[in-house]
Amino acid sequence: MTTNQGVALSCDKCGPLDYILFDGYPFGDRMLEGVMFRFYPDGKVQIDDDDDAYWQSLNTKAWLEVAKECGPQVDVGACPKCGAEVAGPDEAVPQEEEQP
Ligand SMILES: [Zn+2]
Repeated sequence: MTTNQGVALSCDKCGPLDYILFDGYPFGDRMLEGVMFRFYPDGKVQIDDDDDAYWQSLNTKAWLEVAKECGPQVDVGACPKCGAEVAGPDEAVPQEEEQP
């Protein structure tokens, strides 16, 4: 298990990012294809557009739980500013390294 101390998320063009976007497809399959989640450096996960009518037909809470578990393993995400591919939390550099 990884103890998540936070990761530094950044885009080559835009610099440091508050969060990255990732697609729900890898864990939600076709139901979440094209549905974007926000992943924050502290491991928090949010639906990018939770006003979307689509979510009213889904069990939002349950999917967020799944997204939270899968989020840290995402290796490629998208920059919310320019849409470029950015390193996901799995590839990003840990913000602070704690040596026991
Ligand atoms: Zn960018």
